Amino acid sequence: MGFSYRDGRLFAEELDCEAIAQEFGTPCYVYSRAAMEAALADYHDALEGCEHLVCYAVKANSNIAVLDTLARKGAGFDIVSLGELERVLAAGGDPGKVVFSGVVKRPEEMRRALDIGIRCFNVESEAELDVLQSVAAASGKRAPVSVRVNPDVDAQTHPYISTGLRENKFGVATDVAMDMLRRAQTLSHIDVVGLDCHIGSQLVDMAPLLDALQQLLNMVDTLEAEGIRIHHLDLGGGVGVRYRDEEPPAVADYIAAVRQALGDRDLCLVFEPGRSIVANAGVLLTQVHYTKDTDAHSFALVDAAMNDFIRPALYQAWVDIQTVAPCDAQPRTWNIVGPVCETGDFLGKDRELALAPGSVLAVKGAGAYGFVMSSNYNTRPRAAEVMIDGNTSCLVREREGIDDLLRGERRMPQ
Ligand SMILES: *Cc1c(COP(=O)(O)O)cnc(C)c1O
Repeated sequence: MGFSYRDGRLFAEELDCEAIAQEFGTPCYVYSRAAMEAALADYHDALEGCEHLVCYAVKANSNIAVLDTLARKGAGFDIVSLGELERVLAAGGDPGKVVFSGVVKRPEEMRRALDIGIRCFNVESEAELDVLQSVAAASGKRAPVSVRVNPDVDAQTHPYISTGLRENKFGVATDVAMDMLRRAQTLSHIDVVGLDCHIGSQLVDMAPLLDALQQLLNMVDTLEAEGIRIHHLDLGGGVGVRYRDEEPPAVADYIAAVRQALGDRDLCLVFEPGRSIVANAGVLLTQVHYTKDTDAHSFALVDAAMNDFIRPALYQAWVDIQTVAPCDAQPRTWNIVGPVCETGDFLGKDRELALAPGSVLAVKGAGAYGFVMSSNYNTRPRAAEVMIDGNTSCLVREREGIDDLLRGERRMPQ
């Protein structure tokens, strides 16, 4: 959905991607509004008839137009910083549907979140609980709290995005979480409302997710027996997506399994999907400027680099790269590389493509953890972002210019 080929030309909804590249320049992120709405609807549909909240994980793609699109369709938001909170508000998001994750929440971030009345703080340590209690007391507010449990399950994903092992910095072990909840119950400015976990991203196997869920359910039952009522279970991020040949569970199947495990417990289900909402709703368009043959490789030298899209360099992620229009050249095997001065700067290796200087390429699956992880490394301006809605295109973030790159810096006083 969102991106499709018509006579060998890539379309974003109703618009030709080569024409989009011409209009907005390259590199350029292009998103499909319909594709993200459809991905969100998968979660909402699967949760029908059950009290729920889908809190889109802002960090996956925090463009205000993306947040606005999802907020209009009823999404809440999972945030990890004050900056993300302000983005949600700027996008018209409902603070009452915001959950606040992250291992280092500063007092001023807590204060602002309390002031606007977020749904829940996902507390990740005992020390954080104490700071939250004192910030809430000083503000004369009560802080709704969930404790993030680290269930010590191996999510079977890339080590950098695996978060539910005992050795990771996230959450607290189940026994610690139980003690924290019992203590939280006695604190004057804390309301215990939930339990949460997030064991990792790009999960293609449901078993670790269901293992973690079972641990949370056991905790809910024990707490209930002690008179501590848990209102919601937050199961963290969404399922993985297909970048190449992965076979992640369908959202409907995952949620059906969760609902079955829940039995007749009266719990609100919260999910924090990021990647599965936006990854395949976005591509990165980049133009081939030169080609170069060496003894070892043929290089296609493109204008997008690791500073624009770091997943291949950082996670050795494989992403599909295709031309957006047919090219007369003979297909050859290319290494697609950018201008940044690092050998790690590649988008894809050994790709069979028919291309020539001037060709526009689409890096698929770039809607999640794409633009948000971009930087100004090599003093490169960050790319433009464009949202497609049917047959209209909307520039939702301008390409940075030289003034943006130099802003805030100054020469020595003498
Ligand atoms: C990153 C993250 C998510 C989103 O994960 P996806 O795999 O993108 O769905 C959700 N919750 C927390 C706490 C996260 O850190």
